Amino acid sequence: MSDASHSTRFLSRKPLMVTGLLLMVSGALAYFWIYVRPVPHDMPDTVSPDALHAALTPDPSLPIDIAHTDVLVIAACTLRQDRMGVYGHKYPTTPFLDRLASQGVVFEEHFSQTPWTRPAMGALFTGKWPRQLKLDNPGAGKGFTAVLHPDHTLIAEVMASQGYTAVGAVANPNLKTRFGFSQGFSAYFEPEGTYKERTPIPTADEVVNNLLSMAAEVPLDQRLYARINVLDTHLPQKYTRRYLKLFDAQPQRLAKYDAALRTVDAELARLFTELRAVRPNLLVLFAADHGEGLYLPRHHGPEHGNYVYRTTTQTPWIVYHPALPEPGRRIRGRSMNVDVLPTIADLLGISSPASVNGASQKAAILAQTTAAAHIYAYSETFFRKRHLSMVYDGQHQLIRTYTKPTETGPYTDQMFTAADWEGNTDVLLDEPAQASHLADMLTQWEALSLVLSANGPDVVNDNVDESTDDMLKALGYVD
Ligand SMILES: [Zn+2]
Repeated sequence: MSDASHSTRFLSRKPLMVTGLLLMVSGALAYFWIYVRPVPHDMPDTVSPDALHAALTPDPSLPIDIAHTDVLVIAACTLRQDRMGVYGHKYPTTPFLDRLASQGVVFEEHFSQTPWTRPAMGALFTGKWPRQLKLDNPGAGKGFTAVLHPDHTLIAEVMASQGYTAVGAVANPNLKTRFGFSQGFSAYFEPEGTYKERTPIPTADEVVNNLLSMAAEVPLDQRLYARINVLDTHLPQKYTRRYLKLFDAQPQRLAKYDAALRTVDAELARLFTELRAVRPNLLVLFAADHGEGLYLPRHHGPEHGNYVYRTTTQTPWIVYHPALPEPGRRIRGRSMNVDVLPTIADLLGISSPASVNGASQKAAILAQTTAAAHIYAYSETFFRKRHLSMVYDGQHQLIRTYTKPTETGPYTDQMFTAADWEGNTDVLLDEPAQASHLADMLTQWEALSLVLSANGPDVVNDNVDESTDDMLKALGYVD
């Protein structure tokens, strides 16, 4: 009897215990899924070599114009130029992008205008110098609350005004609607929350799936503008497990970065193959907002934002269309992310917004000239209460470090030769004429930025302050 009564008491408390247990287990599972889940995953190869080969087949009969050409902009986050095969990396990180480049045009001396996502993507999507966008400079307010003002015109808005249907899919919370980055899009996939809210970051396959399903909703007789952002190479890197062994002759941090890049490459191959199968007249522009320090070399740090060395400011730019003349060309001379908007507009035969600061690189892409349009490339950062800027002319890189995060004020300059990518040997005093010329150019660019900033729309702030610490913690990064 006593056993039975004990059992009865036990049973009467069971529903409560089961509910409690279920809550605990589901809470633990949710926590694990969001914050602790191992980043390696196993993705099958989703594109057959034959399908990819067919997708990369040139077709010189296809016109590049506003009436016939669909446009895909791939804006990768944290993509360091020299980790890509096409830019000289010795490991097979980017077999698809290498092949895309062999059918397209590669810009060798391409620069992002600032080495962290929000202002860098702002410059890339609007063609404007970053200071004007007020997403990063001291005027942007306390913390990372700044929103891209609605008065700025994004590529998507230019395309939509020409009758294109714009669809976008982004993994980086910096590119969410609340920060102004979905202007012009009729459909937009984005992470649920912000970094501060510790949102799960969508992986490349998820972002590609979403972009493809939104693109599939657009009737084929309507022109498509599609923009994708992938974040897998950002800390903590997300990569397909089996790719790791391709790169594990290197230190783990580099192997993981390369495996994540290979994962991104495979997903972009799938995106390109599926899109080109239904939209053969496809113009593709592949660019990145910034690179990554990777402690390679040590003084560049582990990640990005804090410095303007070429490891984080010199980024890839590949332009592809099936009818490009002399495919596989490599363009010397400087180009920048602010050139992407005017280049798309010029290639399609439409005009850019008057406020654009970048230049069209159409002549180089169509083999009408062998050099890119700029003599000087510029970049700057105000990340984490710093102020650094740089200018590069193909011979030297001059880096300016301000002692305070003010827009003007005391600074020191260093200069490195083009061959000294790592910024090891300051040659400022050895080549005073070059140094003084580059210093003047940089001073002029910064003065122009100040004027544009003063005349541009006022800063808008979101109520979420995405502090650096929030971002780094949410990304699993501890300094
Ligand atoms: Zn980024």
